[in-house]
Amino acid sequence: MNVADCLFCKIVAKELGSEIVMETDNVLAFRDINPGAPTHVLVIPKEHIASAQELGSEHGTLLAEMFGVMADVAAGAGLDGGHRLVTNVGPDAGQSVHHLHFHVLGGRAMSWPPG
Ligand code: 5GP
Ligand code: ZN
Repeated sequence: MNVADCLFCKIVAKELGSEIVMETDNVLAFRDINPGAPTHVLVIPKEHIASAQELGSEHGTLLAEMFGVMADVAAGAGLDGGHRLVTNVGPDAGQSVHHLHFHVLGGRAMSWPPG
């Protein structure tokens, strides 16, 4: 897929609007347009990476930044009862946007395994 056509690259470039929750040098966190829980935030790298399948050791620093943002998002939302971090990879998992993103979900009890 062409990066120029990537929905989340457009959100990073602010060509498309989103409700931004947190932003760092390399990471953006914004609310999911179709929330599946009272808190549903997407945390993405500003750099286009198609999915977790494309990650390597060169992304170690970026991943640390992403997990730091996820922890801050959860703390900022007051998710004292816990939360779920999810990244869907590929068609069987239902990945619909091919730009790496972690879902930060919380604010309600969740079942396991997911559907
Ligand atoms: P996936 O299905 O790839 O794991 O997750 C993609 C997520 O992106 C979905 O939860 C979907 O609701 C969200 N999404 C799709 N388009 C937009 C959009 O234009 N803006 C925002 N904020 N979220 C979107
Ligand atoms: Zn992208």
